Amino acid sequence: MFGTVLIANRGEIACRIARTCRALGVRTVAVYSEADADAAHVHACDEAWPVGPAPARESYLNTERILEVARRSGAEAIHPGYGFLSENAEFAEACAGAGIRFIGPPASAIRAMGSKSAAKTIMAEAGVPLVPGYHGDDQSPEHLESVAAEIGYPVLIKASAGGGGKGMRRVDDPAEFREALDGARREARGSFGDDTVLLEKYLLQPRHVEVQVFADGHGNAVHLFERDCSVQRRHQKVIEEAPAPGLSDAHRQSMGEKAVAAARAIGYEGAGTVEFIMDAEGAFFFMEMNTRLQVEHPVTEMITGEDLVAWQLRVAHGEPLPRSQEAISHTGHAFEARIYAEDPDRDFLPAIGTIARLRTPAEDAHVRIDTGIREGDTISVHYDPMIAKLVVWDNDRPAALRRLCRALDDWTVAGTVTNTEFLGRVAAHPAFAAGGVDTGFIETYRDDLFPVPEAPSDRLLAVAALFELLGVDQAAAERARQSGDPWSPWHSTDGWQPNSDNHHVLHFLDGERDLTVVAHYRRDCFLLDLPGGTMQANGTLHADGSLRVVLDGVHLDARALQTGERLRVGVSGEERELVVHDPLSAGMAEELREGSLTAPMPGTVLSVLVSEGDHVEEGAALMVLEAMKMEHTIRAFTAGRVEHVNFRQGDQVSEGAELLAIGAEE
Ligand code: ADP
Repeated sequence: MFGTVLIANRGEIACRIARTCRALGVRTVAVYSEADADAAHVHACDEAWPVGPAPARESYLNTERILEVARRSGAEAIHPGYGFLSENAEFAEACAGAGIRFIGPPASAIRAMGSKSAAKTIMAEAGVPLVPGYHGDDQSPEHLESVAAEIGYPVLIKASAGGGGKGMRRVDDPAEFREALDGARREARGSFGDDTVLLEKYLLQPRHVEVQVFADGHGNAVHLFERDCSVQRRHQKVIEEAPAPGLSDAHRQSMGEKAVAAARAIGYEGAGTVEFIMDAEGAFFFMEMNTRLQVEHPVTEMITGEDLVAWQLRVAHGEPLPRSQEAISHTGHAFEARIYAEDPDRDFLPAIGTIARLRTPAEDAHVRIDTGIREGDTISVHYDPMIAKLVVWDNDRPAALRRLCRALDDWTVAGTVTNTEFLGRVAAHPAFAAGGVDTGFIETYRDDLFPVPEAPSDRLLAVAALFELLGVDQAAAERARQSGDPWSPWHSTDGWQPNSDNHHVLHFLDGERDLTVVAHYRRDCFLLDLPGGTMQANGTLHADGSLRVVLDGVHLDARALQTGERLRVGVSGEERELVVHDPLSAGMAEELREGSLTAPMPGTVLSVLVSEGDHVEEGAALMVLEAMKMEHTIRAFTAGRVEHVNFRQGDQVSEGAELLAIGAEE
């Protein structure tokens, strides 16, 4: 076995790899960017070396620096994890050139699978079934259009060099083919510098089923069964499971055999995943092969009892595969839920923030948590906003699903918005329990998965009001402390104010809802007028945003965190983000409700589509921001005239920054 391995990654996967290395007695070397100086993965390894500034381009993708660290730290091998350098053939070659083992397939295999068109040609020759379509050299629009007609609509145009759903267009109507082709080509050229496309029959509500394969340098190749990754948002996986529900053993075996044939066809070595798309009749077709360890590998580990990272290390070290095909078996059922800092109600917009509180279920034989985030850590704009992978296992699917629901329930994150509640709704959905998964799942059950939230409870509103009132108290106490006259009545907040009525009106916005709380000052508490009646309230506000409140005599722990106008409040299992509305700035309510003219998160201005003085219609695109590798279009919430444009192309904006202003036209 290797003596020392460098882990060229960060976050949960770096921690995960370090765990296996430690178990095998292998010394680990971490690399970290300036933003990650105190990150979990730095502490998980025996050594950690800085490799550059926060942007991945300058640190985690800095090939030269990483190879230099490998040399200086005495690492014999580099594990690239997933993402970053894991599917970079040049990097694999550079490692070989430096005499360091790249823990992954040969560069030639990475290259062979890098082009979807070329990969299809190889797979067809190896007898692996393909989606009906065209992946040939004649790229003239006339030819492609006639092929599309032969395939039959709907068709899918895909960028051959594609990834991450870019350069992909579904076309339902032949009349729209040319325009869609132009669009897909433009995107492909922009993203990959190559506008070659392929055509596929668009399968309606298919399933995404992938097979884990492994091959060694001694001619052995096996599969470790399949994973169903059908539940997706924006073509990205949300919940994965193994085995795939409802798949017969014969089907499983045939998919496994095809996947092994695919791996053999390209002289594969190490861990790989062959992705298939499966139609409603159970016919499956090759989609692509990922030449690395997948995010969702833990579900395979849970049902097979194998450690795939240990397999990777052994194979890279030149050992044969630890097991033959016959010796690999699976028991029970496993799920993985990806917990992200993102807002499902805003089209899964990635979020950032400092994790003020993190409470997770206990780990045991049934529950595994892979994470690189601890309480106090920050989710920044620089990297993937995944907080953790929650993995559960039990003897059968219903039992495992119960564990998943319970564990999601036990998960609390404060400090950023997360998809945890959304995942809980998916897991608890009867159609999911029945195993009825396909890639359209979230769309099909949209109404159930995005319920119109009920109005916040009086209890939650009371906590929000207390947070504001006690905050005002603290600010006043601070002013008093600094003023030299701590007893001046001007600093008092007990309700007695010169010329002031002894109550305070607070406005909160909950989406479209306008909520008012009137707080009357009493000697020992506030008397709150809430939608459901009055409530006596008092409490203590701690510096970390936690509160101990007493509501009508009941003592409760609560939490509240305010960033700008947004106030996140949690009490008694209910959590809500409200907007604190200051009635003094008239007109703000409308704008906040639309939330469209301020930056939803920190990012870069990609383009400005309007100029000052322009007339715009409601819904018109005004500006495009890029944040966390996603584009976000800022649209006009009303028709009007553009009064100010506050940023230019290339500018950095912070969250909540006012981007533009629109005024009503006379
Ligand atoms: P990328 O490499 O850009 O992620 P993929 O080829 O892996 O693109 O496809 C991503 C997702 O798009 C799949 O998981 C599936 O949900 C959907 N998809 C791909 N091909 C088809 C098809 N022919 N019909 C229907 N959906 C498809």
